[in-house]
Amino acid sequence: PAALDVMQIRKDFPILQQKVHGKQLVYLDNGATTQKPQVVIDAEANYYRTYNSNVHRGVHQLSQIATDAYEKARHRVAAYINAAHAHEVIFTKGTTDGINLVANAMARRVLKAGDTVIISAMEHHSNIVPWQMACEDTGATLKVIPINERGELEMEAYEALLDETVKIVAVTYVSNTMGTINPVADIIALAHARNIPVLLDAAQAIQHIRIDVQALQPDFLVFSGHKIYGPTGTGVLYGTTEWLNKLPPYQGGGDMIKTVTFAKTIYNELPYKFEAGTPNIAGCIALATGIDYLEKTGFEKIRQWEEELMTYALQSLREIEGIRFIGDAAARSGAISFLVHDIHPFDMGEILDQQGIAVRTGHHCTEPLMDWFRIPGTVRASLSFYNTQEEIDKLVAGIKKAASMLL
Ligand code: PMP
Repeated sequence: PAALDVMQIRKDFPILQQKVHGKQLVYLDNGATTQKPQVVIDAEANYYRTYNSNVHRGVHQLSQIATDAYEKARHRVAAYINAAHAHEVIFTKGTTDGINLVANAMARRVLKAGDTVIISAMEHHSNIVPWQMACEDTGATLKVIPINERGELEMEAYEALLDETVKIVAVTYVSNTMGTINPVADIIALAHARNIPVLLDAAQAIQHIRIDVQALQPDFLVFSGHKIYGPTGTGVLYGTTEWLNKLPPYQGGGDMIKTVTFAKTIYNELPYKFEAGTPNIAGCIALATGIDYLEKTGFEKIRQWEEELMTYALQSLREIEGIRFIGDAAARSGAISFLVHDIHPFDMGEILDQQGIAVRTGHHCTEPLMDWFRIPGTVRASLSFYNTQEEIDKLVAGIKKAASMLL
C-alpha cells in the first residue's frame, strides 16, 4: 500500500497542535495513553448531544438507538479481533478491570491450594497484583517466567514451569516498559498442549499488531480503549464462550441478571453476565469509532510506519554517548526504555518536558522488572503512527541537551 501520510494524519488529532512550555508538543508517551482523533471525540459528544439514554432497558426510541449503537460497537470490536461471536467481547473499564475480572472468577471457581498461576518477569502491576490476590485467597502459588538481559522471556524455563498444578498462564503480549514482543503463539501452544488456559495482556499490542483471536487462540485477551485511540474508562475482555460460561460473574447488579428473587437469582447470558450496571456507553461507542478510524487509515500502513519509525528511533538513540537500553529484544514494538550515564530518569524527563517533549519516567508499573535490572526506573519513549522522524530528532537533541546540563 501507499505510505502513510503522517502530516495529514496529524491534522486528525487536535491535541498534537498544542504547545507545551511555549514549544511544539512532541508526544512520545503513547504507551501511557494515546491521543484521540477528532472522530472519537465527536462520537463521544454526539452520544450525549443526541441520544443519551440507558441501554438494554427502555422501550423508548432513544434507548433503542443507544442500545443499537452500543451493541454495534461490540460487533465492531469482535470483528477487529476476529472473535467467533460478539458475545465473547465483554466491555470493561480497561485492562486492569479485565484482569481483575478473570483473576477473581478463577479464584472463586478454579484455583485451590496447591495450584499454580504463571506470569512473567516483565508484567505490569495490573497483571501481577490481581493474581497475587487470587493466590492469597486460594492458597495457590504464583510462579514467574524469567527473562534474559535483552528483556526476552526464557522459553525453556517457561516450559519447565508447566506441570499439572498450573491452572492459568497470564502474560503480556508486548512489554509496556521495554517493547519486547513475546512469542505468544508458542506460549499458548505449550500451555494448550497441557490443557492450561492462557490470558494475554494485549494493552500494548492491540494498537500495533494485528490480532486474530481465532488464529492465535488465547482463552482470554484484555486491552484498554484509551491505548487504542479510544476514551479512558473503556476496555475489552475477550474470552472464549467455553471459558466465559464456565466462570462465575464478577459483579452483581442490573443487566447481569435474567430474574431476581430474594431466594435466587438467575444470571443473564453472555456477554451481559459480566456487564453489571450501566456501562460506559458513550466510551464504548467511541472506542469502536477509534477502531474504525484505524481500519480506514489502513492498519497495515500504520504497522509499516510504526516499524520504520522504531528502527529509525533505535538507530538515532544508539548514537547518543553513554546511552543504555533497558531491554533490547530482537522483536519489539512501541516502547524504548533507556538510561544515559547515571542521570536520574526524572531529571532527564523534566528537561525534556521543558522542551515540549513528553516521555514517561519511573518504573512504569513494572517494579519487579526494575529490580531485576537493579535500576530505579527508566526514561521511556513510546511511539505511535502519528509520530515523525523529526520528532525523534527532537528527542535525540533533547537528550543530548539534558546530558550536557546534567553531566
Ligand atoms: N498492562 C499493560 C502491559 C499496560 O501497559 C497497562 C497500562 N500501562 C496496563 C496493563 C493497565 O492498563 P489500564 O491502566 O488501562 O487498566
